[in-house]
Amino acid sequence: MGVAYWELVRPDAVTVWRSRVVREKLSWYYDVMVNKAPAKFVIARYIPTEGDLGKMNLEELWALHDSLSKEFSKLFHQAKNRKLTYADVVKLDKPRISYLDVKVEIARRILEQCRFCEWRCKVNRLGGARGFCRLANETYISSYFLHVGEEAPLVPSGTIFYGSCNFRCVFCQNHDISQENPFSGWKVTAEELATIQDYLRQEGARNINHVGGDPTPNIYTILSSLKYVRSNVPQLWNSNMYLTEESMKLLLDVIDIWLPDFKYGNDSCALRLSMVRNYVEVVTRNLKAPCERADPIIIRHLVLPNHVSCCTEPVLTWISHNCPSALVNVMGQYRPEYLVLRYPEKYREIARRPSADEMNQAYSIAKKLKIDFEDVS
Ligand code: SF4
Repeated sequence: MGVAYWELVRPDAVTVWRSRVVREKLSWYYDVMVNKAPAKFVIARYIPTEGDLGKMNLEELWALHDSLSKEFSKLFHQAKNRKLTYADVVKLDKPRISYLDVKVEIARRILEQCRFCEWRCKVNRLGGARGFCRLANETYISSYFLHVGEEAPLVPSGTIFYGSCNFRCVFCQNHDISQENPFSGWKVTAEELATIQDYLRQEGARNINHVGGDPTPNIYTILSSLKYVRSNVPQLWNSNMYLTEESMKLLLDVIDIWLPDFKYGNDSCALRLSMVRNYVEVVTRNLKAPCERADPIIIRHLVLPNHVSCCTEPVLTWISHNCPSALVNVMGQYRPEYLVLRYPEKYREIARRPSADEMNQAYSIAKKLKIDFEDVS
């Protein structure tokens, strides 16, 4: 039986993905999506605290953050077990200062010596300096719309494309906004970003999908926007996962579903093709955090031609050992783009699409490792 269009676009629709495995693995996401459970950021907004955050040093702010995170966990587990609904949470008194405010203040301090990602540029973006991602204290959105090309359980996805990136992937399909024209979109404030999220939700978005480029350099604006979002909507982090541990700590209690890339199985491929160091250690460390909490997660692995044994195999093996609860999208849509198209001799091994044989190898590795990939690939 087909799914009616209204069922797909209404956020409170009861019809969700029919696969039992997918429903179980993404159950928190579904509960928020249909407004049974409060999104994590909504819970964080109702956890009260006191004090003048602006006068605290960073160490004091982190200590406060960590103690409020324990309060968050209690409410979150009640909500996860369906003992605390969205309606229950919004009946609580809204505090003057909340756990979310603490996160925003910490993010503002990090922006002064930026280390949102492992480039750790330590530039004062708040004062106008720019790091590797080329962003100062500004957030650019190149487009936002209901995306129907994402994984089936996510669509329609309220996708927000941020300009700029902290990677330099030679095959980037979004190179126009990530590399060449990162400032070509609209410069938005936190309040404007919140309005966009509410608009997308009202139009039928099942989630707010923060993507780019990469959303990581925009953590301060994104966290700040959550103070103003009026709707209850799952927050989705669609990222290269090159974040610092501090950034991960800021996000873990606000992101409802993770959609990370895991591209490379070794550091030399990552350095040559995306210009980042220490890739495997950083990305696996960051993937472990949501996996250990059993957060809903769909890991994306783009199969690159001639990279099945050096990248696909170790990536899928790591996932099967360390994140068996993840759904995995084994993606075959790679095509030569950007610098690979301009300099095919330099990037000869990836100057073509993956062959049917390579995709079959990737799928059989995933099957052998008992990875759940078929429903989302
Ligand atoms: S987000 Fe990353 S690349 Fe950008 S300034 Fe901060 S540390 Fe550097």
